[in-house]
Amino acid sequence: MSDPTSFTLAEARDAVRAKKISSLELTKALIGAVEAARPLNAFVTETPERALDMAKTSDARIAKGECGALEGLPLAIKDLFCTKGVRTTAGSNILSNFVPPYESTVTQNLWDAGAVMLGKTNMDEFAMGSSNETSHFGPVFNPWRSRSSNASLVPGGSSGGSAAAVSGSMCLAATGTDTGGSIRQPAAVAGIVGLKPTYGRCSRYGIVAFASSLDQAGPMTKTVRDAAILLRLMASVDPRDSTSVDVPVPDYEASVDSGVKGLRVGIPKEYRVDGASPDIDALWMKGVEWLKAQGAEIVDVSLPHTKYALPTYYIVAPAEASSNLARYDGVRFGHRAKDVCDITDLYEKSRAEGFGREVQRRILIGTYVLSSGYYDAYYIRAQKLRSLIARDFTEAYKKCDVLLTPATPGPAFAVGSKSADPVAMYLNDVFTVTVNLAGLPAIAVPAGLTTDGLPLGLQIIGRAFDEATVLRAGRAIEVAANFNAKPAQWWRAA
Ligand code: GLN
Repeated sequence: MSDPTSFTLAEARDAVRAKKISSLELTKALIGAVEAARPLNAFVTETPERALDMAKTSDARIAKGECGALEGLPLAIKDLFCTKGVRTTAGSNILSNFVPPYESTVTQNLWDAGAVMLGKTNMDEFAMGSSNETSHFGPVFNPWRSRSSNASLVPGGSSGGSAAAVSGSMCLAATGTDTGGSIRQPAAVAGIVGLKPTYGRCSRYGIVAFASSLDQAGPMTKTVRDAAILLRLMASVDPRDSTSVDVPVPDYEASVDSGVKGLRVGIPKEYRVDGASPDIDALWMKGVEWLKAQGAEIVDVSLPHTKYALPTYYIVAPAEASSNLARYDGVRFGHRAKDVCDITDLYEKSRAEGFGREVQRRILIGTYVLSSGYYDAYYIRAQKLRSLIARDFTEAYKKCDVLLTPATPGPAFAVGSKSADPVAMYLNDVFTVTVNLAGLPAIAVPAGLTTDGLPLGLQIIGRAFDEATVLRAGRAIEVAANFNAKPAQWWRAA
């Protein structure tokens, strides 16, 4: 049998069900891959003992003929999902000793389906970043390297550890979260599939909050089919999250191969931006041809408020973050400063020591835009723009069923090359933030390589709660692109 670490989620599921491999064998192989890949720093916490226990329990269930939808399949979990009894850091010093007494709904759903936890993946601190360089636990390195250099590249962010873990074959699939692009951007630059569901599709209960009106959990996988499988199991309406929505969760896998014949695909002209790599524009045009060749109808559409999306996001997200992060005060949980003289001193020192610079920057911006005198000028105007951005999509969907855009303006960049310039870093999300502001579902699918051999992705954006069509169109891109390049596992030789 082929190397089990190279299995897709669907292949592993079918092999486990057919008893061609036990969960224990599969889990041991992936634990080995996680250990071998430590130079990539993709995990904050490895949980091999728990994984082996879960695998044994799964094997016992399989022997009795009781097989959950993800029975015995090892996954990696972004360290933003609270996992009962397993340290959950959000990539931050302030939570570096935090062991949650409860489980997030999304991860509970996965364990209920029989999945096995390999560990918690590294991420930008509190999910703020696009390169995984703001983590208190150090940067993650992209498994991919360019043909012309051995420089370490970022895996994107904030779900950079999950992206590296999937791309580097350390797990079958992983969870991520996406507030402005943090599933799709790392997926695109690491050559994997990443799906941000509609806001409300997955429960946010037990996910450390960044910007509550934008945050969504979603799957990061090797294939579109795997994303279809995982999304169905992550999604649920949840009485503990009043923003989760009670709509049926379809069997996405059943329709993933239905093709795009007759589907109207919109091409938004505003997504041709200055500074995007020429490879990206060329790939985008290829995507248009691929979908046309499979019977889709291509229509030009306009999303006129796109240029306001990044400024709007960088008001709304920090505003919500500043309020969400007020709870880290050194009193109830998390890092507590020593040698303090009074309660104010305790707050100030704990927060100064606990939060890194990017998080501090966001808290400052957020409190500024919410403060009296500036609230109307910034926060209220951003909310109005958010409505206009959402309305652009409603108008576009009168003419089309999905939109096709690039996923990122360029490929993975060198570690350190953008960290001194926050605005350059924020531009990574130019194609993804609109989707969060409008609450829509979107998928990034690997579609080609740059001339230097680095992966690039295309994005399909859909109507609210129409992930099924998003997956179908994503699958059509995947079929046409036939992207089967894999990163050389240089860390194994190191
Ligand atoms: N890169 C964006 C930010 O820094 C988005 C992050 C995210 O989606 N969590 O805020």
